[in-house]
Amino acid sequence: MKRLYTYQNGNTTTTIYDDGTKTHFTMDDEFEFEFPESHDISISQCCDNGCEWCYYGCSPTGKHAQLLGWRFFGSMRPYTEIAINLQRPLHPDLGRFLFLMNSHHIICNVTINQNHFMDDEIRRQLDVWVRQGFVKGIGISLTDPTQDGFIDEVKKYSNTVIHVIAGVTPWEDIQYLMGHGLKLLILGYKKTGRGKKYYDGLFIPIITQMKYLEGGLDEVINGFKVVSFDNLAIEQLHIRDRLSDKEWDMFYGGDDGTVTFFIDLVKGVFARNSLSQITYPIGDKTIDEMFEIIKEEIKKGSD
Ligand code: SF4
Repeated sequence: MKRLYTYQNGNTTTTIYDDGTKTHFTMDDEFEFEFPESHDISISQCCDNGCEWCYYGCSPTGKHAQLLGWRFFGSMRPYTEIAINLQRPLHPDLGRFLFLMNSHHIICNVTINQNHFMDDEIRRQLDVWVRQGFVKGIGISLTDPTQDGFIDEVKKYSNTVIHVIAGVTPWEDIQYLMGHGLKLLILGYKKTGRGKKYYDGLFIPIITQMKYLEGGLDEVINGFKVVSFDNLAIEQLHIRDRLSDKEWDMFYGGDDGTVTFFIDLVKGVFARNSLSQITYPIGDKTIDEMFEIIKEEIKKGSD
């Protein structure tokens, strides 16, 4: 693992490595970050994939975000990260947006559904962006692990992570991918958008499938090169109970809003995370002004 960047953020030294790993170090008891280091950014609600559980309610007639001209872009710190949703049809301004982010030294990661990742035309475009250094990490939302050539395609890229959803992705699909040296990210199930109806209408309840996954986590951890969880999955799969205090301190990336927050460019708002009911207009705020608002919300919530 090669070290790429190190920067100081408040009382914390942040280091990023070439495989996407990020570490935080402080001499104090608590991390205190001066600026946010990563954002999930929604750039489009236009998507032809029609997933029944789509928490963001995307459809082929959904809207693309305004991608250029936001004031806060210029206030983001070099080597901080964003993760954007890449869907078919591609956002028409995406190339220019990625060029802009790259010129500000922002690390761009994308998440893409397997159906779109396996589309030759999209992959050709993705290849260009990866070669240019515009896209660093690729998160692929799994639909069918047995698809011809899928695992080989995934392995062609150095920074790919397979995304699965707790309670939705069948256990056999996760098992199928074990032993291939892949990285896995387990996401929690979001009951917003179409996710609510899907949750209520299933014959085998999502909660039952989650319990099954929880029971098989040791096998999952042994079957992949790296296994990680988002904060919602940490809660839903009771990950805290499996770790000692020392392991928790070492592996936990921090609560939403403490070093990261969500930005929705389609709606022009930001929030603590993508599920938060409390949102704020972006307007012409800088990234630090937005972060202050999020920190204030957290402070009030814990008072
Ligand atoms: S979950 Fe992703 S791929 Fe599926 S409809 Fe929503 S945006 Fe499209």
